[in-house]
Amino acid sequence: MPELPEVETVKRTLLELVEGKEIVEVQIGWPKIIKRPDDVEHFKMLVRGQRMETIKRKGKFLIFHLSDYTLVSHLRMEGKYSLVTTNEPDKHTHVRFLFTDGTTLEYQDVRKFGTMHLFDKGDELIHAPLNKLGPEPILPDFTAEYLLGKIKTTSRSIKAVLLDQSITAGLGNIYVDEALFRARIHPGKIASQLDAEEAARIVIHAKETLEDAIRAGGSSIRSYLNGNGDMGYFQQQLFVYGRKGAPCKVCSAPIEKNVTAGRGTHFCSHCQR
Ligand SMILES: [Zn+2]
Repeated sequence: MPELPEVETVKRTLLELVEGKEIVEVQIGWPKIIKRPDDVEHFKMLVRGQRMETIKRKGKFLIFHLSDYTLVSHLRMEGKYSLVTTNEPDKHTHVRFLFTDGTTLEYQDVRKFGTMHLFDKGDELIHAPLNKLGPEPILPDFTAEYLLGKIKTTSRSIKAVLLDQSITAGLGNIYVDEALFRARIHPGKIASQLDAEEAARIVIHAKETLEDAIRAGGSSIRSYLNGNGDMGYFQQQLFVYGRKGAPCKVCSAPIEKNVTAGRGTHFCSHCQR
């Protein structure tokens, strides 16, 4: 699943490809991807004639700012965008935005779990899904004090807390494992038992991990490709994710894997007590 750094990379790449383009038609092959408005024909009608003004991101959501509307898109497991000049969509292409210049922005999604919500400009922030998101780890409002306030009474593991998008938006399985390794905190530790210094380490390393990954263009786990079809390079910098049994890059003990918070979780039990 693309996480914050991958979505940031997609956003930057797509913006170069579609900024300023005018949508002449929308084709939808799998209506369930369109979550708002209810009626897909209404969606098509509203989007027709709109210009792609800019693209932003919040957490793992892409936010297309059109002339009069805002399109909020989540790629979920396998969603991808690509800009094409042909008219031969494959069976995994579910939404197509045709532009006046003859190019087409295609949304492909093998698993069909992705979502699109269309709002009147500005309304996107007061409705689901964006209104439920906590602060992004890379922004100044994600602080140790904030995190401590959220975990004071929880019985959940720190891994579960960091995956909770209402606490912080944009950390997924890969980057939670990486940030906790860098912070030397065991992912299964009950979050309410963390002291202020440990919370501060988590916050610092969550920010650093994501910033490093954004600089590298994200990780290219599985079929993930960014908007241009290039791979990200962060995979080479992973300490624990996907390295079960391989030697820890810090202490050489084998990286372990278990299930924490319902997710495959990688850690070094020597470095992360
Ligand atoms: Zn280690």
